Amino acid sequence: MAAPKDRRFDVHLHLSRYWPDLPTNSYRAGLDFSVRGLLAEMDLAHIGAGILLQIHESPSVEETLREGRELLVASEGRLLRTSTVSPTQGAEEVARAVALWETTSDLAAVKLFPGYFPFYPHDSRLGPVYEFAHRRNLPVMIHQGDTLDRHGLVKYARPIELDEVAVRYRDVRFVLCHFGNPWMEEASEVVYKNPNVYVDTSGLLPPPRVPHFAAAVARTVDRLADAIAFIGDVDRILYGSDWPLESLPTAVSLIESLDLAPEEKELILGGNARRLFGLPPAGV
Ligand SMILES: [Zn+2]
Repeated sequence: MAAPKDRRFDVHLHLSRYWPDLPTNSYRAGLDFSVRGLLAEMDLAHIGAGILLQIHESPSVEETLREGRELLVASEGRLLRTSTVSPTQGAEEVARAVALWETTSDLAAVKLFPGYFPFYPHDSRLGPVYEFAHRRNLPVMIHQGDTLDRHGLVKYARPIELDEVAVRYRDVRFVLCHFGNPWMEEASEVVYKNPNVYVDTSGLLPPPRVPHFAAAVARTVDRLADAIAFIGDVDRILYGSDWPLESLPTAVSLIESLDLAPEEKELILGGNARRLFGLPPAGV
């Protein structure tokens, strides 16, 4: 039986040779941005495994799969792989991506980046992606809220835009990333209303170097508590960090600070994700 610490599961991690501006965006200077560095920090925060989200800067769908496979193997299966495509690349590219994913048996999820690219989640060009997700019963993770890229267009990344596709594809499970920050209230309604929409708690904090960081953490805990109270239960709330933007212990502390029962915190920190991604419960 594994120790309870291994039950934790982070649904939102990044590690890629294509990550831009790492020194500016990581939560501290000199971070070890490697499988070894990430696993060491996961051990520190008692996180057994997680989802490695391919980033929109990756040069091709093939490369998302190749790099994901490399990191899955290097991490001995602790970092699950994903892929991404943008409908703005055209219908042919979407079809090509889906064909490649069809032959990839260990894909954990598909990630989409509205906001970074100018498309809405309900863009009709995404039909083949959602049909693939339905066939394979794979969650679709959707970037929501603020973009790190100042050229991003955040109107495409508002939670309300996810509502339509959640209704249209009731059998597809969606993860509304970053709780739609700063539109957490809007995200809460979309999650409350749609039983197939989950939400992750990643990337909610400013960099630790900003003044009054501790106050920002406290305020974020309050905002999270309000949003969860509105949703009414914790079954579709997923812990995520957005590492390397946030430190894993700090991201976990947001959940630990909530005024919830220990069993509810355990669900957010791993149980819900293991159910969503079809993984065996830790420790069996
Ligand atoms: Zn992210």
